[in-house]
Amino acid sequence: MTNVVLVRPKPHKDTIGLKHVMICEPLELEYLVSNLDRSLKDEYTLIIVDMLLDNRKLVKHLKRHKPGIVVFTGYNTHVNLIKEFSKEVKSFDPTIVTAVGGVHVEVVPDDFKNQYIDVRLWKNGIDAFNMLLKGLKENTSIDTIQFTIDRQTLNDSFTYNHPDREINGPYRKQYYYMFHNPCALIKTSFGCPFKCSFCFCHEITSGHYYERTIEDVISELKAIKEKDVYIVDDNFLFSEDRVRKFIDALKKEKMDKNFLVYGRADFIAKYPLLMADFKAVGLHGVIVGIESVREKDLQSYDKLTTVKINEEAIAILNKLDVECYSTLIIPLDFDKKDFKDLKTWLRKTSVNFVNLQPLTPLKGTGIYSEYIKDFIEDPNEVELWDMAHIVLKPKYMSKRLFYYRILKLYYEIVMPPKHLIRLVKKFGVAPNIKMLIGSSRVSLQYIIKMIRG
Ligand code: SF4
Repeated sequence: MTNVVLVRPKPHKDTIGLKHVMICEPLELEYLVSNLDRSLKDEYTLIIVDMLLDNRKLVKHLKRHKPGIVVFTGYNTHVNLIKEFSKEVKSFDPTIVTAVGGVHVEVVPDDFKNQYIDVRLWKNGIDAFNMLLKGLKENTSIDTIQFTIDRQTLNDSFTYNHPDREINGPYRKQYYYMFHNPCALIKTSFGCPFKCSFCFCHEITSGHYYERTIEDVISELKAIKEKDVYIVDDNFLFSEDRVRKFIDALKKEKMDKNFLVYGRADFIAKYPLLMADFKAVGLHGVIVGIESVREKDLQSYDKLTTVKINEEAIAILNKLDVECYSTLIIPLDFDKKDFKDLKTWLRKTSVNFVNLQPLTPLKGTGIYSEYIKDFIEDPNEVELWDMAHIVLKPKYMSKRLFYYRILKLYYEIVMPPKHLIRLVKKFGVAPNIKMLIGSSRVSLQYIIKMIRG
């Protein structure tokens, strides 16, 4: 038997991360495990190493498992780290085959062209993984394996086995998302039918959007032990019929779960009754891309929403007591008044959970080349391209001041005593202390940025 070690690396220390307030299960690796081709089961043993939770050095895992193959997964911020790790693997044992999968390689495979990375699983990751293992079993050359992977056409349906959630048993209880603890992940659709200019999500499926059947989703949900479930679709609130079908199925199965989903403001504003029905069967939170309180920004992002629609959506969620986790993009032409206006708007609409992201043109998105002239961080220092660092030159203030205003706004929106008391009442003391510690760590990273400039 050959051991195959599947590694999720910890983010680089400079990456300002949500890792302090959430650690989600590595769903993509669990899918690889459950979809290992039957013909390969006697040949390979798959092991997940989650370095977000396991602090041991990579070499310890290599010594322990003696793998023949090591596969890494990661985002754009992991590119350099994965290259370093692959080099480490090769110096440990040059005969180990290294491979990389994950969302970044799917969109920008060239970023992983490197002498220490043998194979890029950049198309149909699960199929590509099986092609790699099959090819190695049959002594096919690495170049031929890569050529076969490259030649695939992109899937536009998802018909794989449900992820193997037992494989990472020792880590399992530690996966959480903010106040949802423990929390499982499920993915029910792929891609997004919208085309917001800044968004990486629709690039992953090359603009395709496809869904799993609700029957299949429900059968997977039935096997999930955690009560809290985070539906990690790019946009779960898309089809009224499908959401209705989902709600009806949950009712029929008498399922007792708490859900967190991504959804668009226009859907929430259009279907308030549907949202109320969803709340009745367990909807706890919606992550909404509010993006901006300036109409001109919403237009330039091709968001197809308006400030009024955003306000309606937030009011509906507030009325239903469904948490609204708002993500907002801070463009680099923000001045002091814009920050003040944003604070006033967030307070007026009673938004308390915000994710403030300085505009970051990610490699692979349509807007990347448009902003190259404004870069103030080297795009090769990928660990800084985390949607929290300021990578474009602010127009009306220094970088330090821009960091300061973002941090100040976070505190003004998230930390008012009234909001904290509500959170303690709703979620209890211990989870709030955990969140406080996590957010203090993020704040510290911002403060370091402000000091260093
Ligand atoms: S931002 Fe949201 S709605 Fe827009 S393309 Fe991305 S996932 Fe779709």
